[in-house]
This record gives sequence, C-alpha cells and structure tokens, in this order.
Amino acid sequence: MAKKYDAFAEVTLLFERAAERLKLEPWIFLKLSQPERELIVHPTIILDNGKPKTFVGSRIQHSTAKGPAKGGMRYSPDASPSECKALAALMTWKCAVIDVSFGGGKGVVLCDPLNMSEKELKRLTWEYILAIKDIIGPHKDILAPDMFTNDRTMDWVVEAYNHGENHFELAVATGKSTSFGGLLGRKDATGTGIFIVLEELSKHLDFSLEKKKVAILGFGNVGSAIAKLVHKAGCRIIAVTDIHGGIWREKGINPFKLQTYVDKRKKIVGFYDTNPIDNEGLISLPCDILIPAAIEGQINVNNADGIKAKIILEGANGPTTQEADEILKEKEIIVIPDILANAGGVAVSYLEWMQNLNQIIFSEEEVIRRMKKRMKKALWDVLATMKKHNVTMREAAYILAVKRVAESLRLKRFHNYKEIDLKMGG
Ligand code: NAD
Repeated sequence: MAKKYDAFAEVTLLFERAAERLKLEPWIFLKLSQPERELIVHPTIILDNGKPKTFVGSRIQHSTAKGPAKGGMRYSPDASPSECKALAALMTWKCAVIDVSFGGGKGVVLCDPLNMSEKELKRLTWEYILAIKDIIGPHKDILAPDMFTNDRTMDWVVEAYNHGENHFELAVATGKSTSFGGLLGRKDATGTGIFIVLEELSKHLDFSLEKKKVAILGFGNVGSAIAKLVHKAGCRIIAVTDIHGGIWREKGINPFKLQTYVDKRKKIVGFYDTNPIDNEGLISLPCDILIPAAIEGQINVNNADGIKAKIILEGANGPTTQEADEILKEKEIIVIPDILANAGGVAVSYLEWMQNLNQIIFSEEEVIRRMKKRMKKALWDVLATMKKHNVTMREAAYILAVKRVAESLRLKRFHNYKEIDLKMGG
C-alpha cells in the first residue's frame, strides 16, 4: 500500500542518502536535517463583505549557510507544514546546485486565491509581510513568486516591507515588475532555464528534440513558458492539464493559441479540437518527454509504473515521490531533477537581487547570457558527480549540493568558534 505522502520526509531521505555518501560530520548532518527557523503568523484582514477573517501563514528558513535565505511565497488552500519545510529545503539544495550565495526559504499563506478579490489578496499580502517583517530583508531572507503569486504580489511585498521606513529596500523580493526594480526577462526565466538544461542534455545524449511528443502537467508560469519553448524547438505538445482539467490532441496543441484562450477563460478545458484528459491519463500517455509543472507528488507509486516517457523534466518542485523515483530508476527513465531543472528562476533572482543592491540594470540579453552559463555549468557539474559516484541525476544533484553547503558550514563554524573562544579568553 502507498505510504502517506510526506513532502519533508521525501526531501530528507534524499539529503540523508547524500550525507551518507559524503560521510558528513554528525553536527552538519543534524544542522541540515531541520530548518533553522519556522515562523507561524496569523494575519487578519477585513474581507470585501465587511467581515474580518484570520488566515494562517508561515515562513520557513531551512539554511542560511551559503547566504540569506531565498525562496517563494505561495498562496495555497491546503499546503501542509511538511510541504513548506520541504520546499524551503529544496531551495537550499537548488541554490547550492547552481552555486549562488543564497540559502533556502519558503512561505505559504493558507487561502483560496481563486475565490478572493485583488483587494483582499493585497490586504492579506500586506498583513502577512508586516507579520514576518523581522525575519526577512535583503540580507536575511528574500521572497519570490510561486504558486498563485506573481510580480504584482512581489510589488506589494516591497511596499509593505518598506511601509513607515525612511529608506526603500527593493531587494527584499525578486520577481517584481520592472517598474519596481524587477529584471527584464524574469517572467519566463524558470521556463527558459528548464529548456536550457533539456537542450544541453539532449545534445549530450544525442536525443534530437525535433518531433518529440511532450505532455505537460500545469499551464501556469512555468508550464506555459516551457510549453512555448519546446514547441518552438519542434516538439509536439500532445496533452496539457491544469487545476480544472486537461486537454489532449495527438496532432499537437499550439501553446501560443492556448495561452490566448487561457488569458480569456482562465482555464484550458474546452480549447478547440481537443479531447478531455485528466492528470492520470496524461501521466500514462505514450510520449517522449513528461513535464510536471504543477504541484508536489503528482508522479507517485500509483502511476510511475505506467509512465512511458523517456525523459521526465521536473518543472515543478518535488513532483516525484521517492517510491516513484525508484520505479523510474528501474525503468531507466531519465529524470532531470527539480533542483537542477527549475533553478533558472533563482539564477536570475540572484541577478535581480544584485541589480537592486548595486543600483544597476541588466539588459535582457545579459540576464539570459548569465543564466545560460550558470545552468550549463550546473548541468555539467551534476553529470560529473553522476559519473564519479555512479548514481542517478537526482542523487548526483543532492551530493553536489550537500557537499557545497557543508563546506560553507565548516568555514562558518571555524570563524564563529575562533571568535567565541577568543572572547572567553581561550
Ligand atoms: P502557477 O500558479 O503559475 O501555475 C500552476 C499551474 O498548475 C496552474 O496551471 C494550475 O492550474 C496548475 N495546477 C495546480 N494544481 C493542479 C493539479 N492538481 N493538477 C494539474 N494542474 C494543477 O505556478 P508556477 O509558478 O508555474 O509553479 C509551478 C511549479 O513550479 C510549482 O511547483 C513551483 O514551486 C515550481 N517553480 C516555480 C518557479 C517560478 O519561477 N514560478 C520556479 C521554480 C519552481
């Protein structure tokens, strides 16, 4: 029988396996086994109907070993504390895989964003930010958009954070609109990064993308961006799902036309000349590349065996459970893991943070050039680790990330203890 899905336990298992291989010192192992800090807040707002309502929000900082915590802020009707912890830990490992000086954090506000007005969401964002203000900031913890949040939400984060201050800090959030210090080209950065990794790996594997059949779970920020890029590269998108349902068309779906449809109707169901399909149907379709770009745990022990794709490209965070991963390994399906595949978003967030702190503006070409370089290097670092340890791409990405974070911790402890011992006259 399938175990109950526990997102943090899933990430912890991957960390533990890497730690074992690296023979980590017990103190480093313990320090990285739990988040450094977990804050729960209860923002209260007045709804449009005049009634007050209290929500639950959290901000979790998994590690600040390599730099300030960095990670998304998500509106979700049902995210569990374990999910938030897992997402924060994933950020630590993701930042380390691409070697940016950030740690990992994540925030969730439990709410039903699809049934709230813009005014209500803005009030909620403000109250949430005011409640977590003490632990965030350009050198403590930097926020970013995630599920159901976007550039406008990040602008509100900046407004709320700076409210009542006599200085203005833009670098508390990335993924902002360009008029608020946002980066040119940020919106599609995660999708672009995913595509760069796919393209580079395909060359390495001699796997042409031309005419390859692709199925995508999720058509939001990440799903729609990668859909357009694989379409341009000559792939055929045969199915897409979103939270309301899915569409399937063997002859191919044009993602640009689908985007126009979604912009108007807010869902993909009913797009012309397509048949309905659900997530499970999509996951088991005969295709070449399966791209989960929605929520966690969608590829699990119940459906992994039926997967026919040759490559799984993880656009979403934590889309594959460990039990499923074992099955995929046996089936020799190549899984390009989330902490590598979707790291393009945080790679360019790093540039936005630098841009804001240094009051400079990167051109879009410069953003793409730097991201490309970083993503390609991360892929080659992972491939080298894979070869050295004879492991899967996911295991290699974790070994690489844990090794880098452990190195930072060792250095920090050395400096801290020298200082403390000196003060004690030791
Ligand atoms: P989004 O809110 O823009 O889009 C999410 C999409 O998933 C929507 O189409 C939604 O309808 C769909 N969805 C939600 N629940 C679903 C379900 N049960 N079945 C099928 N589809 C469902 O979010 P996003 O920013 O595209 O993020 C998607 C994933 O990518 C998340 O796991 C997120 O953590 C990860 N991610 C996002 C970024 C980024 O820059 N936005 C960066 C790295 C990773």
